[in-house]
Amino acid sequence: MSNAAPNPTTDDLAARESLLRAMRQLDAAGLNRGSAGNGSVRASAGGFWVTATGMTAAELSLDRLVWVDSTGQSHGPWQPSSEWHFHRAIYRQRPDLGAVLHSHSVHATALATLRRRLPAFHYMVAVAGGDDVPCTPYHLFGTEALSDAVAAAFVGRKACLMANHGLVAGGAHMGEALKVLVEIEALCEVYLKALAVAEPVSLSRDEMAAVIERFRYYGQPASRTDRPSP
Ligand SMILES: [Zn+2]
Repeated sequence: MSNAAPNPTTDDLAARESLLRAMRQLDAAGLNRGSAGNGSVRASAGGFWVTATGMTAAELSLDRLVWVDSTGQSHGPWQPSSEWHFHRAIYRQRPDLGAVLHSHSVHATALATLRRRLPAFHYMVAVAGGDDVPCTPYHLFGTEALSDAVAAAFVGRKACLMANHGLVAGGAHMGEALKVLVEIEALCEVYLKALAVAEPVSLSRDEMAAVIERFRYYGQPASRTDRPSP
């Protein structure tokens, strides 16, 4: 990958616009508040574009997305989100992912303060790629230790909780990252409600494997209508 500076007017324009839209959607849906949370998209020049630090969704704009190159150097007048390290760690770990979103959404964060993973209590947990959504150990935000923990959690997964912190979700593109984040946050809400009564029953490994197999065909063209959607 080259580190030639991307053209800020034309390069990755659609991806950067999708990042701004996603940040505004998260804010409008109450899944992020103030300047908490951040997002990024992979840059075609190498590295990624990440939201600037300390900005609300309303304050963000195309020129307030910061290019962080593949060596971790940021460019331009704005500082990248202090949490850019784990975005880089995810892109390194998962070459198939092109977008990452992070929020302090209420229910995922509540579960993360319990330092509990989201188990296979509902089949839609498979949207994150496996039979659970792991929760990393606690590490200070912005540290390499946290990045390493997130990268490890993203092996075979598109989402994880970070203990006493929040939720991270990724996707091949921003639409998928947003779908995964919104779904996992909703599942955390259901899990916490069920947990208030008793420990929910988990699906077996085989039952989840069948869901994951089905999901491989989800969203395919009409010729796949023999594969019912979830
Ligand atoms: Zn955070």
